[in-house]
Amino acid sequence: MSMQLTEDQESIRETVERICLGFEDDYWLEHDDTGEFPEEFYRAMADGGWLGIAMPEEFGGAGLGVTEAAIMMHTVAKTRGAMSAASAIHMNIFGPHPISVFGSEEQKQRWIPGLVQGCYKSCFGVTEPNSGLNTAALQTRADRTDNGWVVNGRKIWTTTAQVASKIMLIARTTPQEDCAKPIDGLSLFFTDLNRDYCDVRRIPKMGRKAVDSNEIFIDGLPIPKEDLIGEEGKGFRYLLHSLNPERILVGSEAIGIGQQAIDRAAKYAKDRVVFNRPIGQNQGIQHPLAESWMELEAAHLMAMHAAKLYDEGVECGAQANAAKYLGAEAGFKACTQAIMTHGGMGYAKEFHVERLLREVMIARIAPVSPQMILNYISERVLELPRSY
Ligand SMILES: Cc1cc2nc3c(=O)[nH]c(=O)nc-3n(C[C@H](O)[C@H](O)[C@H](O)COP(=O)(O)OP(=O)(O)OC[C@H]3O[C@@H](n4cnc5c(N)ncnc54)[C@H](O)[C@@H]3O)c2cc1C
Repeated sequence: MSMQLTEDQESIRETVERICLGFEDDYWLEHDDTGEFPEEFYRAMADGGWLGIAMPEEFGGAGLGVTEAAIMMHTVAKTRGAMSAASAIHMNIFGPHPISVFGSEEQKQRWIPGLVQGCYKSCFGVTEPNSGLNTAALQTRADRTDNGWVVNGRKIWTTTAQVASKIMLIARTTPQEDCAKPIDGLSLFFTDLNRDYCDVRRIPKMGRKAVDSNEIFIDGLPIPKEDLIGEEGKGFRYLLHSLNPERILVGSEAIGIGQQAIDRAAKYAKDRVVFNRPIGQNQGIQHPLAESWMELEAAHLMAMHAAKLYDEGVECGAQANAAKYLGAEAGFKACTQAIMTHGGMGYAKEFHVERLLREVMIARIAPVSPQMILNYISERVLELPRSY
């Protein structure tokens, strides 16, 4: 396993970095203050063809793997924009995965080119207020009509629902008591986020204000039968298929944010003089930064390892979960240490490290918590009895 990028991969990294460098720190600070979606950044990435990095070539994508997508998202998060930049495009990168794997040819043709070109944004409605991490217990219902389904229920934490015109939505189509397993009877739709039937309410939150998070109250949303992905009742299984790529990407994003924080801290530690010496001359400042550097490098190796396994078609659940866990924890520690290195100025917005800490926190919580990853490794790798 080597972190040495191929020539093509290095070219991806460099080109994406060049686009990101076109957006100054103040651009992100301003959007973090106003909560305005970073449309110019989104457009620059779409116009460069980057939204389709892992989508099939026949639908306008680049047909590359999760490895290349991870290199790209790591670079995006590392180069100033952090999670605000990554989340602005994240859904276009990983969201269409169930469509490209389980959608019909007609659906791929209808949806993927628009997502790749950035013609429309979509959001991802899985989490619900009353079921939390127990996705199989979700309560949003899709009931059969003559032409398709009608949906009633609630979603929470739906990212970009303020700016999206489409939603990837999971809902129960068969009551749990009539299913062999709790994960059966759930169906996946990609459909219009029709605001006549969906009340989208923004959630005020800790960080990443530029990329909105929402509660959605769904009241009688009609979904035509053409918008069902794959077979009715198999939606949860389709989602499971895209969990590993998402974990690899989120882990890579957290690693990028942590590395950005460490770079900023090392620069400040060289410049800031107290007691007639740069603060970075003190081991108390150096060692925690060195420790974070090693932890981030190790997490990055795991993320690239998981991506390589995925692209080779090898089972990578343990590695993808480990990459997300290690990346988020190392990223969080690095951002905390970057603030401590800056002393009081770490708390000031003008040094940009407090924003990184607020944003990296998301990678710890979503799409799955550290506790649930530890449960997964305990059960699936160590073969310990299920604890819940
Ligand atoms: C900024 C942000 C953006 C998000 N974007 C989206 C999105 O676009 N679409 C979407 O669908 N969701 C999204 N989410 C939701 C996110 O995936 C969930 O918040 C996350 O999965 C945790 O679910 P929960 O909040 O319901 O936590 P809960 O399920 O309520 O869990 C709360 C705590 O209890 C712990 N816990 C629960 N059960 C166990 C157990 N058996 N063992 C050990 N610990 C346990 C958890 O680990 C966690 O620490 C987003 C969340 C955030 C914060």
